Amino acid sequence: MTPDHDIVIIGGGINGCGIARDAAGRGLKVLLCERDDIAAHTSSWSSKLIHGGLRYLEQFEFRLVREALREREVLLKIAPHITRPLSFVLPHDKRMRPAWMLQVGLWLYDNIGGPITLPKSQAVTFPNDQCGQSLKPGYKKGFIYSDLQVDDSRLTLLNALSAKEKGATILTRTKCVSAKRHDGMWRVVLQDHEGVRTEVTAKAVVNAAGPWVKEVAEDVLHLKTKATIRWVKGSHIVVPRLPGASHAYILQNDDKRVIFVIPLADKYSLIGTTDVTVRTLDAAEQISPKELDYLLAAVNRYMTTTLTYADVVWTYAGVRPLYDDGESNPSQVTRDYTLQVMDAEGQLPLLTVFGGKITTYRELAIHVLEKLKPWFPGLRGEWTATEPLPGGDTPSVTALFNGLQARYSGLPKDYLFALLRRHGTRVTRILGNAEVVEDLGTRFGPHLTQREIDYLMAEEWAITADDILWRRTKAGLGMSADEKRAVADYVFSVAPGRM
Ligand SMILES: Cc1cc2nc3c(=O)[nH]c(=O)nc-3n(C[C@H](O)[C@H](O)[C@H](O)COP(=O)(O)OP(=O)(O)OC[C@H]3O[C@@H](n4cnc5c(N)ncnc54)[C@H](O)[C@@H]3O)c2cc1C
Repeated sequence: MTPDHDIVIIGGGINGCGIARDAAGRGLKVLLCERDDIAAHTSSWSSKLIHGGLRYLEQFEFRLVREALREREVLLKIAPHITRPLSFVLPHDKRMRPAWMLQVGLWLYDNIGGPITLPKSQAVTFPNDQCGQSLKPGYKKGFIYSDLQVDDSRLTLLNALSAKEKGATILTRTKCVSAKRHDGMWRVVLQDHEGVRTEVTAKAVVNAAGPWVKEVAEDVLHLKTKATIRWVKGSHIVVPRLPGASHAYILQNDDKRVIFVIPLADKYSLIGTTDVTVRTLDAAEQISPKELDYLLAAVNRYMTTTLTYADVVWTYAGVRPLYDDGESNPSQVTRDYTLQVMDAEGQLPLLTVFGGKITTYRELAIHVLEKLKPWFPGLRGEWTATEPLPGGDTPSVTALFNGLQARYSGLPKDYLFALLRRHGTRVTRILGNAEVVEDLGTRFGPHLTQREIDYLMAEEWAITADDILWRRTKAGLGMSADEKRAVADYVFSVAPGRM
């Protein structure tokens, strides 16, 4: 008997979806199951940066930094609508790492990833340079360098969408409850949200369950594993945009950790993150009062504005699933990924993904397929560096926006721009022949209409209000409780039985 799939992937975070896309595009028959929503966990709780990670240079993680720096240029090309270059201001004073060390680090950052289109780093002085206007007057000099901002949950979703368009089966709200090798194939049991179980068969299984990788290994695959995963929680707060903070800031704290202050949407600043080792995942997706104080104190030390609890409009927390390299300081644990293939005595492969970053998901997927190649000899070559993700097939976001403005001149510019930042060239699939905003049905919030919700439910697996407000869009930011309830009521009225 031939298995009905080549690969079953467990987990619909960035790693699972990236592997699904790459594998489907190389001609493999792929099934991905995600027990919640696509990007429901770590892959929507990141700092939303495609970055080499300046501080990883200090840890001599040159391979990781080089790969990550190269990915900035790749993702800017294949997903220009959901990424954007961001300049980071790094204020400097005597209490920090010496200036020469930062200069060496920034030189490496500009050069070890190969040619870059992003602006190179430079030294700056305050208040001469505008970029320092949010900083307290005591800071006189610093540096500025570039990285990329990304919509992390949409990046994950676009990978899932692309995988589907290349023939993969993507099952959300479907948990993998058991997988075992039997009669020359993997037999994988899936359970949907109503408790209905089905069995599928495959040649290979990939465990990409992020923080749950060990739980899946032990409870689903019935393997005895040594603890190889470390959970390091990171929390963020969102406040109204700090005055003058259209740049991002990287602020060194007394404990030598760095805190980012990053522009989010058009009106907010995102501040994070913390590094706290946790022993259980229960409640780890909630910020603690201690973390809140830590982040507020870091910003208040550097910025002219004094933030209090009352300024915080949203918080989120996630757990980094890090490969345990035995390091005692959570900030020093490697952010690199490790792939483990289990195929003892010629058995069909089980590939387990430990660690990884949003930034390196595409390269991780390439390495996964390299490792699986012996079982799929006809596998096609690498392709994901050049083919745009859905909606990313435009050489210029500005030109796309100008064209949209001309075609949809009766729609508000800020709405058009928000829509473009989510759907790129696919905006027209939502707007159709709309001339004014009333043509798009109920307006649930400044940047969310009924037409888009219908599209997200039909095309992007959205089922609940949270899927729409926080993952497919960030329209939830700035919407009142009543407005959000109206979205939930609408979603329920359209598909009452779906959840
Ligand atoms: C605070 C913080 C900040 C970060 N900032 C950055 C950053 O700026 N840049 C960057 O590059 N990286 C960043 N990262 C790292 C990055 O977010 C993660 O490494 C990445 O999202 C992990 O993706 P994943 O697919 O492995 O895990 P996840 O996104 O958690 O996906 C795993 C999925 O598996 C599913 N699952 C579990 N068990 C089962 C089962 N039995 N059946 C079916 N599905 C199952 C879960 O529901 C989950 O959705 C950050 C991480 C954190 C926590």
